[in-house]
Amino acid sequence: MKKSVVILGAGESGLGSAILAQKQGFAVFVSDLGKIKEKYKNVLLQHHIEFEEGQHSEEKILKSETVIKSPGIPDTAPLIQKLHKNGIPVISEIEFAGRYTNAKTICITGSNGKTTTTLLTYHILKNAGLNVGLAGNVGKSFAGQVANEQHDIYVIELSSFQLDGMYDFKADVAVLLNITPDHLDRYGYHMQNYVDSKFRIIQNQTKNDFFICCSDDEIIQKELEKREIKAACIPFGLKDPVEPGAGISDEKLIINFNQKQFSMSILDLSLQGKHNTYNSMAAGIASMVFEIRNEQLRESLAGFQGVEHRLERFLRVHGIEFVNDSKATNVNSTWYALESMHKPVVWIAGGIDKGNDYSMLKSLVKEKVKAIVCLGKDNSKLHAAFDTVAKNVVDASSMEEAVKAAYYLARNGDTVLLSPACASFDLFENYEDRGNQFKEQVRNL
Ligand code: ADP
Repeated sequence: MKKSVVILGAGESGLGSAILAQKQGFAVFVSDLGKIKEKYKNVLLQHHIEFEEGQHSEEKILKSETVIKSPGIPDTAPLIQKLHKNGIPVISEIEFAGRYTNAKTICITGSNGKTTTTLLTYHILKNAGLNVGLAGNVGKSFAGQVANEQHDIYVIELSSFQLDGMYDFKADVAVLLNITPDHLDRYGYHMQNYVDSKFRIIQNQTKNDFFICCSDDEIIQKELEKREIKAACIPFGLKDPVEPGAGISDEKLIINFNQKQFSMSILDLSLQGKHNTYNSMAAGIASMVFEIRNEQLRESLAGFQGVEHRLERFLRVHGIEFVNDSKATNVNSTWYALESMHKPVVWIAGGIDKGNDYSMLKSLVKEKVKAIVCLGKDNSKLHAAFDTVAKNVVDASSMEEAVKAAYYLARNGDTVLLSPACASFDLFENYEDRGNQFKEQVRNL
């Protein structure tokens, strides 16, 4: 009899898992509590994969041998609890797909900078002519690529939710960018649970693997003292470089790795700002593991186009620069955005607050921000934090209002920065929708 697998959630990763599982000879059933997108439904029909939507048929699901869960479904969902109780393994798409490929993997996690670093690493390896795939939270699903395409290397962005469903998977190269409080609602409001989840990135690693991590991050450093790291640990930070490791000396980014040294001026990096220097270092080290030539690495770090909605400098109107950082959904990422600004800033902030503590932004706001436009259904916490810090703090209830207010408050030479420090779901579908509406309203000015 065929082995059975149930896939919960019919999004990009669920679809990829379904196709891979079918190819591997499993009896597959896909179940989605919501409505399945038409394009995905068509794929399921084409492949004759059984599915349901708008419900989870518990009886059928509880008979399955393995369940692949979408990272969006929390562990506390009653169905998942029942699966655990019945001893049915609940795994992530990455765990499942990892069982069917021998390709090398570079896995990238952190509270902030994952997508940027993943895309940058992919860009460097691709430019060097390697047969590389892009997977995880960005690009096509890992499972779908393992089923249909054959890459030698995969660069995979991993959120903590994905890591939570990973047990036997091993990253050949693991990158941990930083750890700051985020998603604590999914971790019982215990920071250590979230930290442990992030550290799953190095599970199963051996001495032949690599662990690239930030030496300036206090939480990571504390954990390193407590944990046994089996892989070769390659640190990166903004201080003098160590060997092996990456650092800054005389305004130069330096990487010492494998008896080789790479260096380039930080002014030549295409991604500017301290946070992006970290991201460039991490991507640079990961690429050097694959023996990319210095010249090629330099070219790729200088020529990378950047990523939409992440400090995207996209238009100048009457001498005012508009920057879309809609992806900044927590306080820490907004800190880096403000830190990288060199002109007076009109800052558009707000949305759904995930338990934000704004105190770390106050001195930067005092130094760089001339006005704040609060864009959220409930702006009371922003007012409480900044009314006495910034000269002008105004409210807006739509992106159109926010952009018009910011334009009115800005002068030639200023920057209008959308970096909300909050989730977007109160007024927008998601952060992309928020960023796109911002750009549309700026174009309408
Ligand atoms: P993620 O995928 O982890 O959410 P992104 O690459 O999409 O990260 O970047 C999200 C936001 O986080 C960016 O808009 C930027 O302001 C900020 N950011 C990027 N890299 C870092 C970093 N290394 N440290 C802190 N903040 C960062």
